[in-house]
Amino acid sequence: MAEREILTWDLYGTASRELAQAVADSGYAPTIVLGIARGGLIPAGSLAYALDCKNLFTMSVEFYTGVDTRLDVPVMLPPFLDRADLTGADVLIVDDVADTGKTLELVHDFCADHVRTARTAVIYEKPQSTIKPDFAWRTTDAWINFPWSTMPPVVRRTGVLDA
Ligand code: 5GP
Repeated sequence: MAEREILTWDLYGTASRELAQAVADSGYAPTIVLGIARGGLIPAGSLAYALDCKNLFTMSVEFYTGVDTRLDVPVMLPPFLDRADLTGADVLIVDDVADTGKTLELVHDFCADHVRTARTAVIYEKPQSTIKPDFAWRTTDAWINFPWSTMPPVVRRTGVLDA
């Protein structure tokens, strides 16, 4: 396994455009882009612009606590998305990476009974993912350094969610 896959901001610009082009070329025209916070938010915004889709929804899921260390299962965090808002929609679910695939699976299952169609798009997929994303820019088995989360926060905050 390679040590790290480094995605720079420069390369991210190319990646997000190429991923959007792959969605467009497939003929899929989402009526909603749903970004999984926090890692999927920047890709979701980029895809929403590139695919000319103004309906951008988000939901928060927490799974990882560090490099390759995770909770037992991914957990949805408030505020919770109202699934009724997805009724009849063609939803493109976007995350930064499908690693175990459990986060994408959770969100896909959460939406499944309400949407008209759902597709998944990620910048990276890993070979072990339990879900095969419909759209992925690249495959790697390395831990990925994303440009938005590689540098430490400029300020450390504790207990924010409990406040
Ligand atoms: P999964 O549920 O597919 O195992 O992981 C989903 C989430 O875990 C991703 O959205 C991301 O936030 C985090 N994650 C998983 N693998 C990596 C990785 O290689 N690098 C980084 N930076 N985050 C990862």
